[in-house]
Amino acid sequence: MIMAFHVTHQLIVTTILAGTFAALGLNTLASPMKALIIDGQNNHKNWPQTTQMMKHRLVESKLFDVIDNVTHAAQGEDLSFQPSFDNYDVVINNFGHRASPWSTQTKKSFESFVKEGGGLVVIHAADNSFPDWDAYNRMIGLGGWGGRSEKNGPYVYFNDTGELIRDTSPGPGGAHGPQSAFRINIRESRHPITRGMPPMWLHIKDELYDSLRGPAENMNVLATAYSTRTQHHEPMMLCIQYGKGRVFHTPMGHSNESQECVGFITTFLRGCEWAATGHVTEETPKDFPTADATSSRPFRLANP
Ligand SMILES: [Zn+2]
Repeated sequence: MIMAFHVTHQLIVTTILAGTFAALGLNTLASPMKALIIDGQNNHKNWPQTTQMMKHRLVESKLFDVIDNVTHAAQGEDLSFQPSFDNYDVVINNFGHRASPWSTQTKKSFESFVKEGGGLVVIHAADNSFPDWDAYNRMIGLGGWGGRSEKNGPYVYFNDTGELIRDTSPGPGGAHGPQSAFRINIRESRHPITRGMPPMWLHIKDELYDSLRGPAENMNVLATAYSTRTQHHEPMMLCIQYGKGRVFHTPMGHSNESQECVGFITTFLRGCEWAATGHVTEETPKDFPTADATSSRPFRLANP
């Protein structure tokens, strides 16, 4: 009887643990979480540093067991750029404006990775890339530059009364004013990525992207920032469902300094975790910015 009790007890514990892991979206030890950062062509010349910074934040978070980096050739088409996307839970895109189109085969494997349930995280100028790639525009929801216009889809923003506007009138997609600190206004506080964050927080000096346009399908705007240039509240955190895949897109993160913001770091880590699993365990840290004070974690100090 005692033996039988032990066996049953063990089974119950195992089942509860498995259920808890499943509920939290955590992988068991048998399948470690894997992240891949892709980069190589970006009009932001600091991309090697931002890749290093993001990798460091991911290592510190202990959310992922494996964090790899695959870099595209610096110029032109690179037929050897064929990352094994399917080996990862999340792909972090650190490409930028005027990135050369990928090979047909690489585009196909990337599309099927996301469509079949892979996670994708889009950082700042990665929403400038590949204006003519239809599936990519659907994944990122909204994009800018590269000839984007009303032909790519509506300009999406919030008006002063908090309504989401899809403006289909003609105009270019993508612009920004001079860099400055700006407030992030959380519009969806029950989403795993934003849950527990202050409703308003001050982001460190960055480019405030405005007038982004795109298909904006299956898209949820989690946060906005007020642009004095457009006098509209511009999307700053986006979640897009593409097939079975989850995409987190942040237009923030222009400079190394912008990426030292604790608000950026937290949304980046939470975005990666959510894109990979659909859940978030990463907490809002004690040094999170407030409505009136920015908060920075200098990279040099964290990694001397
Ligand atoms: Zn920029």
